[in-house]
Amino acid sequence: MATWRIGTTTVHKVLEAEVPALVTEVLRTDDTALLKRYPWPAPDFSRADGTFVLSVHGLVVDTGTRRILVDTCVGNARASVPFLRMLDSAWLEDLTALGYPPESIDTVVCTHLHFDHIGWNTRLVDGKWVPTFPRARHLVTRVEWDHWAGEADADLQDTMRPLIDGGLVDFVATDHRVCDGVSLEAAPGHTPGQVAVVIESGAERAVITGDLVHHPVQFIEPDVAGLADTDAARAAATRRAFVERYADTGTLVIGTHFPAPTAGLLRRGGDGTVRFVAAGPR
Ligand SMILES: [Zn+2]
Repeated sequence: MATWRIGTTTVHKVLEAEVPALVTEVLRTDDTALLKRYPWPAPDFSRADGTFVLSVHGLVVDTGTRRILVDTCVGNARASVPFLRMLDSAWLEDLTALGYPPESIDTVVCTHLHFDHIGWNTRLVDGKWVPTFPRARHLVTRVEWDHWAGEADADLQDTMRPLIDGGLVDFVATDHRVCDGVSLEAAPGHTPGQVAVVIESGAERAVITGDLVHHPVQFIEPDVAGLADTDAARAAATRRAFVERYADTGTLVIGTHFPAPTAGLLRRGGDGTVRFVAAGPR
């Protein structure tokens, strides 16, 4: 687990799982040495055996008056997920132990609707999928929902239908302002309606990436698509714009799938090359 402070707002990482993966299993490349060409803030970004660690975690954004959960991981007892099938993790207990029992969450932001970001939206109780965060408004972008709504995928239905039927979902614009200091920012390409989440407090700023990158090498080489990107060219354009917007600005970039230290800064060297470096303590 990790905690960052952005002005008076606190962000907590709540880990569900860490999955070692080959770069060729996650990114659209056959260059197995891709990660070895660059320096990384920790060994889990490029291990000796050629794998890196794909972290699955949710992020609690606590502004002092709002308790916002960004992405809800894979969830337990999901039968048809491509990995971590029928998971039985203590993620909900860990969230509670941090001081955030499910009923205290007032907002759930779904950066996009892939299974590893919405799993805990619901949980299985006595054979029935019920909302995990019954007091939360669940924010899904209208563009994202329109893209996926027709899918018969069992997990998508199990994770979204009980929320929609319960009136817990707000379909929002991709630049929606969640509250003072927290807003969504369009990040299309991985999926059509994906968003990043921007957090501002005082003079400090952080941004949660969603899956616009799965590994920070994609900031350095933005044309390297994710295998699951629905529109690789658009995703590359989103990555370029993201680097343009946030490099050398002091903005803490919190990776939705990055292993520890999970957050860092984008720095441009004298020759224009981008690096992802660890941030100092906050
Ligand atoms: Zn993902």
